[in-house]
Amino acid sequence: MAPVPKSMSGILIDAPGGADVLQWKTDLPVPQLQDGEILVRNEFIGINYIDTYFRTGLYKAPFPLVTGKEAGGVVVASSSPEFKEGDRVGYISDHAYAELTALPAAKAVLLPAGITTEQAAASLLQGLTALTFVREAAGIKQELGVSEGPWTLVHAAAGGTGSQLVQILSVMGAKIIGTAGSPEKCELARKNGAQWVIDSRSEDVAARVKEITSGRGVDVIFDGVGKATFDLDLEIIARKGTLIVFGNASGPVDPVNLLRLSPKNIKLMRPVLLSYIVTKEEWRSYATELFDLIAAEKIKIAVFKTYPLSEVRQAHEDLEGRKSTGKLLLKV
Ligand code: NDP
Repeated sequence: MAPVPKSMSGILIDAPGGADVLQWKTDLPVPQLQDGEILVRNEFIGINYIDTYFRTGLYKAPFPLVTGKEAGGVVVASSSPEFKEGDRVGYISDHAYAELTALPAAKAVLLPAGITTEQAAASLLQGLTALTFVREAAGIKQELGVSEGPWTLVHAAAGGTGSQLVQILSVMGAKIIGTAGSPEKCELARKNGAQWVIDSRSEDVAARVKEITSGRGVDVIFDGVGKATFDLDLEIIARKGTLIVFGNASGPVDPVNLLRLSPKNIKLMRPVLLSYIVTKEEWRSYATELFDLIAAEKIKIAVFKTYPLSEVRQAHEDLEGRKSTGKLLLKV
């Protein structure tokens, strides 16, 4: 294996701001390996909405910052007995927007033979979010016939996480309503398995949900849009429903008066993936389940576009401009 270089290319952010603060650099220092860490040569890096929160400063991290939360690549150095040079891994950690990333071995997973580094970078963060939220936040653990399955609604159902949610809910036999921001996105949500789709830009979502559910409302809502859809969620949720707010694509939800939950005894959650995959057992077993679903083609990862790492600005603009569907990837 080629010796580890002293410098590398990557994306540096000096101060919070718009996509223009993402700077392509060719002389970043290669991170020093700490005890229990591995150094990974990233091949593909997954773009996630959370990358924009760290870029803008909505989520806090010290600057200058190399952001980026997931990638697939090859181990080039290891100070952990669990991995050796040449191992193909996927990971969810920090500082992925670079040629090389050092991370705790506990945040990586060895890739099975049928899973490429591209598939790992395209699936881990959003796929595990969908899997853990369906299982643990919504409590849908058993595959049911669609007549018995709960009424669910997924916002941004053609997006990265939304596409995974719809496909996993479909495997579980839920009745799925997907919302999406154009006719093309609605068609994609339908292909992913949503039996009903609503164009959130041109239709009255509340009226359509009432019509589809005969006035009952939905049992579970998965909402990564946040601020713009929270009031709507309270309107369309069924009595005793579970409202899972998990993102801020339109901005963070304002502080909530808890009394608003009382008329329908709503369960309100604000989960994060990382708190569901804390132990080695949780991380490895959920990753294995996800890779099995992909290998069995029960879920498919549709890549919207693969950008060269140096063109990450365009990727952020496409994501924040609601131009993308499915997964955005960076190639190193
Ligand atoms: P997406 O691919 O879903 O992109 C975001 C989508 O949100 C857009 O395509 C758009 O779809 C919709 N949207 C609605 N309103 C806006 C707006 N004002 N600005 C931008 N987009 C808007 O991104 P991700 O899958 O990466 O993330 C989706 C959400 O899930 C994010 O909020 C993210 O933070 C959250 N998330 C949270 C996790 C957690 O652990 N809590 C883990 C993973 C993701 P449309 O045009 O169809 O409405």
